[in-house]
Amino acid sequence: MEYEVIKKPRSAGQTANMPDYRKVHETFAWADAHKLIDGLPGGKLNIAFEAVDRHVAAGHGAQIALRWIAKSGERTDFTFKDLQDRTNRFANILRSRGIKKGDKVYSLLGRVPELYIAALGTLKAGAVFCPLFSAFGPEPIQSRMEIGGANAIITSSRLYKRKLKNLRDHLPDLREVILIDAEEMDTTALAPLMQKASDAFDIEPMDPEDTALLHFTSGTTGKPKGVVHVHEAVVAHHTTGRLALDLRPGDIYWCTADPGWVTGTSYGIIAPLTNRVTMIIDEAEFDTNRWYDILEKEAVNVWYTAPTAIRMLMKAGKEATQVRTFKALRFMASVGEPLNPEAVVWGQETFGIPFHDNWWQTETGGIMIANYASMDVKPGSMGKPMPGIEAGIVEVTEDGAKELTEPLAMGELALRPGWPSMMRGYLHEQARYDKCFSNGWYLSGDLAMRDSDGYFWFVGRGNDLIKSAGHLIGPFEVESALMEHDAVAEVGVIGVPDETAGEMVKAYVALKPGHTPSDELMLDLMGHARKRLGPAVAPKEIAFRENLPKTRSGKIMRRLLKARELGLPEGDISTLESDEK
Ligand code: ATP
Ligand code: MG
Repeated sequence: MEYEVIKKPRSAGQTANMPDYRKVHETFAWADAHKLIDGLPGGKLNIAFEAVDRHVAAGHGAQIALRWIAKSGERTDFTFKDLQDRTNRFANILRSRGIKKGDKVYSLLGRVPELYIAALGTLKAGAVFCPLFSAFGPEPIQSRMEIGGANAIITSSRLYKRKLKNLRDHLPDLREVILIDAEEMDTTALAPLMQKASDAFDIEPMDPEDTALLHFTSGTTGKPKGVVHVHEAVVAHHTTGRLALDLRPGDIYWCTADPGWVTGTSYGIIAPLTNRVTMIIDEAEFDTNRWYDILEKEAVNVWYTAPTAIRMLMKAGKEATQVRTFKALRFMASVGEPLNPEAVVWGQETFGIPFHDNWWQTETGGIMIANYASMDVKPGSMGKPMPGIEAGIVEVTEDGAKELTEPLAMGELALRPGWPSMMRGYLHEQARYDKCFSNGWYLSGDLAMRDSDGYFWFVGRGNDLIKSAGHLIGPFEVESALMEHDAVAEVGVIGVPDETAGEMVKAYVALKPGHTPSDELMLDLMGHARKRLGPAVAPKEIAFRENLPKTRSGKIMRRLLKARELGLPEGDISTLESDEK
């Protein structure tokens, strides 16, 4: 915590959109936030209506809603009117194929326009949308389709043939397979139907508590859970998009998350569109120059990304940014994993603005703790609770959760339920859901601290805490200290059993290009960590690796490092991206 606070000028950003943190926090009420969406007659609503149709009705049909950049680099624009027409057609197709309100429609697609059209068209038809990562193998696809009881899926012929075709006998609920690009036996081809379908559709008016989305968690700590979200969640998506990401109508906005996980839906589809911004969608995978090109040439105003991508950009070095200007960029935010203070400061140096870290979970459906545009940034902190969100640090004993109010007391990060995008359940896991609540708190499973200014600091996952010689050590602190070293690109820290200390801190380190593993470097890293953290907290062992095992949503899987270290079974690795063993 020796990083300098990045001060925000008191006047900057304090527009009607982004008022002073304290003021908006004091006056905020979810009932008022609800008034910022239009809703449908009789207290009904539909997320897709808020995202698309209401803007067309208000005369913004010609604005670009979605700019799609294909792998080839070719761009295709879709206006809000285009999106309205296409989502209506898709909803009509679902209807004509017998998909009813409440049915589950899955997607297994890369970031192509059909994915966005299907998501919104599904919601229009009153069905539940459930996106899957296109990179999933057949096993994770099957288990997620079984758990959710998928009735329909939209995918491509390539993905269908490779991953789905052989599963069909095992999926009795699956009535409809829609292919975006071709026809196969027992499937429906999308294109001819889209042409024929009517572009008029009566959007299904939903009860606020009707299910809209099913999302699987990232599987960082174990078997992924199916999380249920309702249409009312749109109130939180809209509000947090405006307040935490500073989205303003007409902005160019780029969320780099894949809709296969919750960020890619809440902030890659719903929040941006309800706030009437133009979304950039890049079909391609991460590439340093391509990303800088997009930021610069598309004149991105607001950029929402993740620590793993930021670390890859940092790893690539300064050369790539020196020839560029990012004049349009006004706000950058990060989510998914703790953001090392080093990365926040790097953002400030490289782009002239810091990365704004924010914290939330699949379960919370939307951003809960954030660094606002108008708030001073303490590098390494997740920020403060969003308006309408009460967060606390609690200790859970036999008597249940009890708040710890002492500044910098470490405990479980907990929230008072009651915001619109809170999960309404884990699918088929009532007991697990019930266990998330105690004495009026929702328990996040993460450990954190709150300082005397009300800023929250992430410590680690509950399961990742290291107990060494009487000290409780959060992996994030150790990882951040090592990240400061010039040679380090990425770090994962775990506790391994130790006879005398109980556990000992071990760090797995991936190096930046131009550095090679050596004993000298290891000693240098250990020396650096000891100076920063003291001998009790610094790692006793460092192992060099090409890269670290990560989930598809970019989270370091510390539990896997640990299982391998201890020679234990690897557990559920359905969300694992390829890694070096
Ligand atoms: P699973 O619950 O299946 O183990 P997961 O928790 O990684 O997977 P997600 O809901 O995608 O699934 O991720 C939420 C978690 O990500 C949080 O509980 C937290 O541990 C981590 N996280 C998200 N944002 C931040 C952040 N800004 N700082 C620190 N950790 C974060
Ligand atoms: Mg989780």
